[in-house]
Amino acid sequence: MTALLIDGKAAAQALRERVARAASELRQERGVTPGLAVVLVGDDPASQVYVRNKARQTLDAGMASFEHRLPADVPATTLMQLVAELNADPAVHGILVQLPLPSQIDAEAVLRAIDPAKDVDGFHPINVGLLAVGQPRFVPCTPLGCSLLLKAQRPDLAGLHAVVIGRSNIVGKPMAQLLLAEHCTVTIAHSKTRDLPAVVCQADIVIAAVGRPGMVRGNWLRPGAIVIDVGINRIAADTASGNRLVGDVNFDEALQVAAAITPVPGGVGPMTIACLLLNTLRAAAWATQWALPEAVR
Ligand code: NAD
Repeated sequence: MTALLIDGKAAAQALRERVARAASELRQERGVTPGLAVVLVGDDPASQVYVRNKARQTLDAGMASFEHRLPADVPATTLMQLVAELNADPAVHGILVQLPLPSQIDAEAVLRAIDPAKDVDGFHPINVGLLAVGQPRFVPCTPLGCSLLLKAQRPDLAGLHAVVIGRSNIVGKPMAQLLLAEHCTVTIAHSKTRDLPAVVCQADIVIAAVGRPGMVRGNWLRPGAIVIDVGINRIAADTASGNRLVGDVNFDEALQVAAAITPVPGGVGPMTIACLLLNTLRAAAWATQWALPEAVR
């Protein structure tokens, strides 16, 4: 068997186009341009790349982008003050504070300070709770992207056994909630799980969100499983070109066993920013009580 490649790049582009069309309708009908504010503290190179990409794609979708850069040693009070200003700014519909934050800042307190109605990352405890009780408002972007890729692959997931490897608040836990809402039987595995290969081999769907290059081996997988690889790991390349990105799944091995798999790069990654734009559009639509078109509901 050679697995089908799930093309996250194409899916993300199609989603961005749907979001851009809806944003343009919102502007024409209500005179409102969805606005996303991104706050970057410090000069972490990976975060800088993410923030640049977010700003570019926000503008490309016809939305307004507000970028705020603060030095790594900024006092927590200054960051909190900025969050309060963004909460009060009617041109800002979505607020994203890029993680990780420097150690002098209590990241949980910052996330709690964001107005839940502008929390397009879906990390505020109110939005986490709404997802848990089956009334999602803002779903964290990476698991939302995984779920859209999965559903495009297999619209009805009811009764399937999904194993989510990783229990972070950003990926693993919200992913498990989304799968539960799709009526999957869900197992959450993590660093203390015993005999992980024996758990993974029961799965119809495997979501790997660990951060360990190639950890999930081909012989762990049940033949015909759908594999969503969230991991983004930079490893040394064989060539002189420097580094390359790999996922948490041993791709070449999994290709021989799985029914479908997301590549890294080009799988889950591009969907994350597209889902951020979708959440920003939703925030703007709710703020103006505008009914979202079917294509982005
Ligand atoms: P995290 O470090 O917060 O969580 C990792 C999880 O993996 C933990 O819950 C831990 O219990 C589990 N784990 C660690 N070692 C394990 C082991 N040996 N066996 C089983 N489980 C183990 O990471 P995160 O933020 O959830 O991110 C996970 C991966 O996804 C990283 O590679 C990250 O770069 C990537 N990621 C990608 C995107 C994207 O847009 N594609 C977004 C977020 C994160």
